[in-house]
Amino acid sequence: MTFRFTLSGTDGAARTGAIDTPRGSIRTPAFMPVGTAATVKGMFPESVAETGADILLGNTYHLMLRPGAERIAHLGGLHEFMNWQKPILTDSGGFQVMSLSGLRKLTEEGVTFKSHIDGSKHFLSPERSMEIQQLLGSDIVMAFDECPALPADRDRIAESMRLSMRWAQRSREAFGDRLGHALFGIQQGGLERDFREESANALREIGFEGYAVGGLAVGEGQEAMFGCLDFATDMLPQDKPRYLMGVGKPDDIVGAVKRGIDMMDCVLPSRSGRTGQGWTRRGMVNVKNARHADDPRPLDEACTCPCCRSYSRAYLHHVQRSHEMISGMLLTWHNLHYYQELMQAMREAIAAGAFAAFEADFHAQRAEGDIEPL
Ligand SMILES: [Zn+2]
Repeated sequence: MTFRFTLSGTDGAARTGAIDTPRGSIRTPAFMPVGTAATVKGMFPESVAETGADILLGNTYHLMLRPGAERIAHLGGLHEFMNWQKPILTDSGGFQVMSLSGLRKLTEEGVTFKSHIDGSKHFLSPERSMEIQQLLGSDIVMAFDECPALPADRDRIAESMRLSMRWAQRSREAFGDRLGHALFGIQQGGLERDFREESANALREIGFEGYAVGGLAVGEGQEAMFGCLDFATDMLPQDKPRYLMGVGKPDDIVGAVKRGIDMMDCVLPSRSGRTGQGWTRRGMVNVKNARHADDPRPLDEACTCPCCRSYSRAYLHHVQRSHEMISGMLLTWHNLHYYQELMQAMREAIAAGAFAAFEADFHAQRAEGDIEPL
């Protein structure tokens, strides 16, 4: 069976459909929970699936350093290793080398860097990144790229984008054609329309099974990101999935889907769950707040997740303040459930041609704010 993307409905620029892979179908628009070190922190894989996730993201940088790609391959690949049989997308490692590792040296060939864990020396190139992602058994592989932190001057953005396009070509050659597996190219170019166009043209020339919009959600702010998406998504092929990397908050996600994005990933629902933050249709609720100490109501009365079905705000407040493990577990479950419900609601709204009404309702509910304290 091959990798296939099928659009089943559009509403304005928003699209819904499915990506079929040998490991299962991914309903789009899709949100991918992040399983950095072969685990979505605080969740069993079957619980992640129960929230409605069709695909997970794994981080090449983290897995190559610990426990090592060759070790995971010997143990049967990442799906077997972490007990997740549905599709997995892995990033290329490029972004995290730049953001996490110590001393690094960037050349045309690749990046030499020191591990943030033990200071050991490593090398990543397009060829090595493709090899690692193949060893992991990733279903969707990302091309190896470089991304400057914004703001950066135009020369730096152009130079970096052109290097990434040369690396995209090398990634394609190293990946080759692998039946049922996909390689995605990554559009770069900062917020500059001409560079985004140049990058999109270079990627289309090479040819990929999907296209990511890279280099956003790096501190430019929502308005600038949406402004860039307004032209950047349109430059990518209509008949291939479009993936916005590292996004985001619920309102970022809704705005991205509105602009034609099909896939997203973010650590936010799991990371904020571990610090006492619950995302609901009424916005973000901080369970640490003293107002919840005597509140017997669930985080969200309309939510059907195990956290909201069986636990009170008072309990969530208590376990968060007591640093009990179950605090992060319950809130992560709720947050991932909320994100997946949001995706499902958008898929249905697009299919029904009612995305504008969905969006108005989404913002109206958030504007109401959290329920009144008792
Ligand atoms: Zn819930």
